Amino acid sequence: MRPAHICYSIRPSKPAAHLLEVRCTLPAPDPAGQRFALPAWIPGSYLIRDFARHIVAIRAETAGKVVPLTKIDKHSWQAAPVGKGMALTVICEVYAWDLSVRAAHVDQTHAFFNGSSVFLRALGHEHSPCLVDIQRPIGRHFEAWRVATALTPACDQTARQHTFGLYRAANYDELIDHPVEMGTFTLATFTACGVPHEIAISGRHDCDLARLTADLQRICEWQIRFFGEPAPMPHYVFLVTAVDDAYGGLEHRASTALLCARDDLPYSGMRGTPERYRSFLGLCSHEYFHAWNVKRIQPAAFSSYNLDAENYTTLLWAFEGFTSYYDDLALLRCGLIRLKDWLALVARTIDKVHNNPGRQRQTLAESSFDAWTKYYRPDENTPNAVVSYYTKGSLVALALDLKLRAETSNRISLNDVMRALWQRHGQGEQRCGIGDEDIRMLAEELSGLDLEHFFAEAVHGTTDVDLARLLQPFGIRLKRSANSTTPSLGVKTGSDGSEVRLTTVYEGSPAQVAGLSAGDLLLAIDGLRVTPSTLDRLLSRRQAGETVHMHAFRRDELMEFAVQLGAPAKDRHQLQLQRKRNSLRKDWLQG
Ligand SMILES: [Zn+2]
Repeated sequence: MRPAHICYSIRPSKPAAHLLEVRCTLPAPDPAGQRFALPAWIPGSYLIRDFARHIVAIRAETAGKVVPLTKIDKHSWQAAPVGKGMALTVICEVYAWDLSVRAAHVDQTHAFFNGSSVFLRALGHEHSPCLVDIQRPIGRHFEAWRVATALTPACDQTARQHTFGLYRAANYDELIDHPVEMGTFTLATFTACGVPHEIAISGRHDCDLARLTADLQRICEWQIRFFGEPAPMPHYVFLVTAVDDAYGGLEHRASTALLCARDDLPYSGMRGTPERYRSFLGLCSHEYFHAWNVKRIQPAAFSSYNLDAENYTTLLWAFEGFTSYYDDLALLRCGLIRLKDWLALVARTIDKVHNNPGRQRQTLAESSFDAWTKYYRPDENTPNAVVSYYTKGSLVALALDLKLRAETSNRISLNDVMRALWQRHGQGEQRCGIGDEDIRMLAEELSGLDLEHFFAEAVHGTTDVDLARLLQPFGIRLKRSANSTTPSLGVKTGSDGSEVRLTTVYEGSPAQVAGLSAGDLLLAIDGLRVTPSTLDRLLSRRQAGETVHMHAFRRDELMEFAVQLGAPAKDRHQLQLQRKRNSLRKDWLQG
């Protein structure tokens, strides 16, 4: 017997008040009293967000009669038992005013939502198929609105008409993995290896759609061929919201939600690939790569999400780090950026990792595990305590790729590891997630190398990966130098008007040794006023080893510090290509 559908409906009920009305009708509720819950987090973004806090009203009914609803905890409710054979409907009003890719956002101009912010999960019915009626807001103002989503239309599965109406999902997990945009977005389409792709752009913009579709097509085709045809998704949608200034993306199985600055998009007549557009293409490439690496190849801990609480894994370095390695590398390999630009991007990543003392405090495995409370909840001490599984993870991917290539005479590379992960762990309905040691064991099996020491240092240790040594056989020299001759305080500062405040004091730095702290408001160096424009100037006239007297306010109390200045920080890396032809390098960079 086929299980009955759970029927949802969603409508921006009061767009100006940012309210959505969401209904969930269950044909066969639990006779003991049906429970419902809203996720505490959204897969892909590892922070407890408690989406249920935005439910402003909730009630239940059966056959037009009120059913008592009891709140059990911060995100769960239980309905009183209803008669046998009676359907139960829960109706919520959800406040949606979070302009991010993670939640929901509604006003008179558009509505965007992730299912995890709006669709209640009927406990015990998670595997039932779902229908969702996506409804247009009421009023003439909304007549031109359309729908963009990777959800499958319920009636005609082949036509993607962007109409309001019924869509379907095989289960709750799928229902919440297809974000939805409604409004008057710009739409462009292209095909990559036979798979239809769409780009829907909301917000005012002057995007050169022909350029964008041509470039995205190259990236998508490269990635589909990288993992091997056919692509795992029947169609794919890039949902882009263009605003004044923002940058972010979230991956889904057949779509991605992206937030960007409108100036990041290409404009007609644009020459080359300016930095902002390159960064947007890198974001698209990153989220698209996730369609394989994290949406299908998954940590074992994600094969069945617990949406009520943190889901711990030590493997985010492989899913975010390796994806970060391949996102820009894909741009290089499909000819969208030059080698010189790609080497500069890798050098910036090395800067980011090496300039944070946190890399000596936390391993990549620990950073992954603690993402919920550390990486996603940054504070003034984060640079001292946390290593990013994105940036260091991408350097470990680079190091592993170089090591595999150099030590197998280019017979095996990280590409082979990714493809084997995809073939063994990513495909099929009954796919199983990967365990802590699976990537090491797979790389060892393919290459015949012993990688225990490499992974012990790179993933479970805090020793810096020796990229200089690993790059050498590829004819690339890693150089480290100081960015300026100014002696160092060892701080990061933020400015507000003419004020300079310390935002981070690096562990072991001259400023920390002297007693300065994050949050201190700098006033003067040797009796001369500090402003955003004078700080560097005042320091540049001193020498490393000299002691300066600094005044600062802490809790509005004037304090004085004697700071012995450090040597200019060697915080810039460069990757220099050696002229000689190098076959290892050629094979690597051409993929
Ligand atoms: Zn990512």
